[in-house]
Amino acid sequence: MIISVASGKGGTGKTTISVNMALALGAGVELLDCDVEEPNAHLFLKPVIERSERVETPIPLVDLEKCTFCRKCSAICRFNALAVVAQKVLVFPELCHSCGGCMAVCPGGAITEIGRELGMLNFGDSNGIRFINGRLRVGEAMSPPLIKRVRAARDLDLITIIDAPPGTSCPVIAAMNGADFILMVTEPTPFGLHDLKLAVEAVRLLGIPCGLVINRADIGDNKVFDYAERENLPILLTIPFDRRIAEAYSQGRNIVEVFPEWRERFVALFRDIEAIIIEEKDKAAACANL
Ligand code: SF4
Ligand code: SF4
Repeated sequence: MIISVASGKGGTGKTTISVNMALALGAGVELLDCDVEEPNAHLFLKPVIERSERVETPIPLVDLEKCTFCRKCSAICRFNALAVVAQKVLVFPELCHSCGGCMAVCPGGAITEIGRELGMLNFGDSNGIRFINGRLRVGEAMSPPLIKRVRAARDLDLITIIDAPPGTSCPVIAAMNGADFILMVTEPTPFGLHDLKLAVEAVRLLGIPCGLVINRADIGDNKVFDYAERENLPILLTIPFDRRIAEAYSQGRNIVEVFPEWRERFVALFRDIEAIIIEEKDKAAACANL
């Protein structure tokens, strides 16, 4: 089971929800921090990092001795990552999406591949909770391939909680695509509502069931609640604005550790998600049998 925890905007408490749900469930769970530009789940989960590995993506390397300057490589590259200029083939590594198209069409076998570093994967454990994060190399612009590598390292026998990056662009889609459920964390403010609407549009395109956690639920206004009702989005948990929770957060402590009564609420959140996933799968199976 994969639960992706996302939010239209940053700072809504997405990592707090991911980490606290993982801690409430305990062993048998893994937390994947896919916010690779700014991973911070480790600050709260405090895993022991057991190993790290460098992640590379293949980019073309052109052997000018074999090149006939036919331009087939630059013609197929829709990302303009290759240019044939006079008697040279220029490669722009930052634009390359590693699709391999140029190598496939090169008639003279002039193109091979070399690795370009994307970042690092770190593997750890926190009291039986498996932990993986990706950390994008400073200066690297393309995060989806690294996010996919974090996801590919998941353990199929565990419940997977993904801490997705904020926003609604390609990195978020990479962290949400293929999940069984998307839990969206928002807050009842005009900015929260604006970004939530964009996030819901993206999730609906993916066709994945979703629900809401409303953080700092007693600030702002009722518009997020009204929107949720109109759009038939279940509100699975509300967290009040509480100075003690904010203080604990600022010290890197977790809600379920400081306020044990919250442990049950996060377990209940997971049970509700599980029930929705089962219901959706049953509906899909019934449709398939019609
Ligand atoms: S396709 Fe191959 S042979 Fe043609 S220009 Fe590109 S690298 Fe050279
Ligand atoms: S691998 Fe794909 S994206 Fe990269 S240069 Fe070749 S054709 Fe372009």
